[in-house]
Amino acid sequence: MTAPFSGGCTCGSIRYVCSRAPVAMLNCHCLDCQRSSGAPFASGFIVRVSDVAITGTPKTYSVRAGSGSLATRSFCFDCGSPLFTRGEAAPGVMSIRFPTLDNLSEFRPMLDIWTSSAQPWVCLSQEIPHHPRSP
Ligand SMILES: [Zn+2]
Ligand SMILES: [Zn+2]
Repeated sequence: MTAPFSGGCTCGSIRYVCSRAPVAMLNCHCLDCQRSSGAPFASGFIVRVSDVAITGTPKTYSVRAGSGSLATRSFCFDCGSPLFTRGEAAPGVMSIRFPTLDNLSEFRPMLDIWTSSAQPWVCLSQEIPHHPRSP
């Protein structure tokens, strides 16, 4: 992904700009990602918190993630778009849901994680590594 890049929620209340390219791009099949995305898995990218400038105030909700640590998810209060996830286990980084990108074609997943809880009818790409949990 070419930096800087930007994105936001569907209604435009929440916007972000990332000054550096993501650390990783991935598909997560943990149950919490399934529930919070309303889809069989969630695709997103990991960036350093210090590289992201956010405008607007998303609503947050914290859950115990599959790993046992607390994950705080944020979404737009007006349009409901899932945006960011921050985990207490790694406070320096955050993940951002890929459909929020202004340029969706820049997203290319590099790995699949938590495939141990992937739905059996999900087709996983054989071209990228699969991890049963978080690597
Ligand atoms: Zn919105
Ligand atoms: Zn997940």
